[in-house]
Amino acid sequence: MRQSVLLGLCCGAALALACDGAQRIHLREPVALSAQERAEFRAMAPLRILAIDAPPMVRYDQASDSHAGIAVDIWCFIAQELGLSYAILPGRGQTVAEKILEVQQGRADVFMPLSRQPERARHGIFTLPYYQSYYAIIARKGRGLRVRGMNDLAPYRVGVVKGVALEPRLQASLPATQLTSFDQTNSDGMFQALLDERLDPVVFSKSIFEEKRLTRDYFDLEVIHTLRDDPREYGFYFSATPRNQRLVEAFNRYLAVIDASESLARHEEGERQLIERYVEQRRQRTLLQTASVAAALLTLGFGLAFVRYRRLARRLAASNQQIGRQKQELQESNERLERLSLSDGLTGLANRRAFDQALQREHARRQRTGAPLSVLLIDVDHFKGVNDYYGHSTGDDYLRAIAQVLSRTVARASDLAARHGGEEFACLLPDTAAADVQRLAERIREATAGLALPNALAPTPQLTVSIGVATLKSGPATAQELLAQADAQLYAAKRAGRDRVHATVLRA
Ligand code: GH3
Ligand code: MG
Ligand code: MG
Repeated sequence: MRQSVLLGLCCGAALALACDGAQRIHLREPVALSAQERAEFRAMAPLRILAIDAPPMVRYDQASDSHAGIAVDIWCFIAQELGLSYAILPGRGQTVAEKILEVQQGRADVFMPLSRQPERARHGIFTLPYYQSYYAIIARKGRGLRVRGMNDLAPYRVGVVKGVALEPRLQASLPATQLTSFDQTNSDGMFQALLDERLDPVVFSKSIFEEKRLTRDYFDLEVIHTLRDDPREYGFYFSATPRNQRLVEAFNRYLAVIDASESLARHEEGERQLIERYVEQRRQRTLLQTASVAAALLTLGFGLAFVRYRRLARRLAASNQQIGRQKQELQESNERLERLSLSDGLTGLANRRAFDQALQREHARRQRTGAPLSVLLIDVDHFKGVNDYYGHSTGDDYLRAIAQVLSRTVARASDLAARHGGEEFACLLPDTAAADVQRLAERIREATAGLALPNALAPTPQLTVSIGVATLKSGPATAQELLAQADAQLYAAKRAGRDRVHATVLRA
């Protein structure tokens, strides 16, 4: 399987390496290479390379399915110089340890990049190093661990990735119970243990952690110390064959005089930009999340405000309705009061107040029009006797009966019949000739007698009334004077023997 893939890749060897970075590599002095060596390297079968993601030395880019980085630039440069052909083996899914084993057992030719360790050097061949990176001691933020170097790790539960160059030193300086090793492919498990407080600090590649911190959201973790005294030196790792021994010697001649500073700057800058891109993407994601939460809250707020507004509007409409109802009730009760204040409770006729108002009004009108205005004053004869003999209740019935007589007789719209007080009634008759008024008064008198209500104590043993009439035809007489004249006529009627009408006409 692997063989067939290899064959598929062999002829377009640079397919999976982004080799345009080789132009950033320079030699400080020329390198000598014999013709025999040249011929041998050119004739070699394509070298099978296993690569791992270890920025900035090698970064695998999924979009272009190619590897780029400092190690790639250097590899491409030297391979070109030596006339080598090569192919990248598809090693996805394999752990670093497995890939190293592939090289050590000769199923792959080169591993890149790899840091030097005595154990590894026993089973394969390292070239000279071309890159140095550092381990970092990483802890949860705010833990305040006092760690300034490897020797300070003794009191803590420490995590490390299996097989790294520092592992033997950590094993030597910490009790086994205090050191937890994680497989290369499970560094995330190690960081999780740190976040869960199952570990105090961990030791890990500084540059790779810086990137993971952003890609995996390890924002609660931080580098508390960089182990600058223990640099990791990276080189290419070849399987141990005599041919590869010669190849590594040729590589070393180049690596001894190589100037990779341009490549280094380029890829370190690339990493920095990548990290900035992560930060920017994260910022935008957070912004978007914040904006959508804000939008949701706003919508909710508007919804609630709308519901509230509708409830208030409904309440307002209801209270407006109530106010309307109350206003109407008030108006009705005012009208009722007005009616009450102008009417007589016993008989239902207008009361004295209403009569006085009407008299003033009609007197004023008469002054403009010159039409005649008459007043009738009616007093029940010997009424005291009614009360005395039949009781007050019957007296009241008699008064109501006289009121009905008046209502029937004084029936024109402009006429007014009123109870003037006690057993006295008054009528106001505008625009009526004096003779007609006197006839009307006579009808009232007759109709009252016609009721045939008994009055046992009176000289004539039935109910009668006396009526005084005053008609203002012309002249300056006031309303009071007119009323006084009617009263005088009533008094005269009483004196003359009762049950009669006495009338007068006022003229200038
Ligand atoms: P006169 O013929 O001189 O008018 O004799 P009179 O008995 O009618 O005398 P007067 O007018 O002085 O007396 C009125 C009486 O009417 C006195 C009072 O007891 C009675 N009276 C007044 N108002 C009412 C009323 O509302 N109901 C009843 N039952 N009696 C009333
Ligand atoms: Mg009287
Ligand atoms: Mg009387």
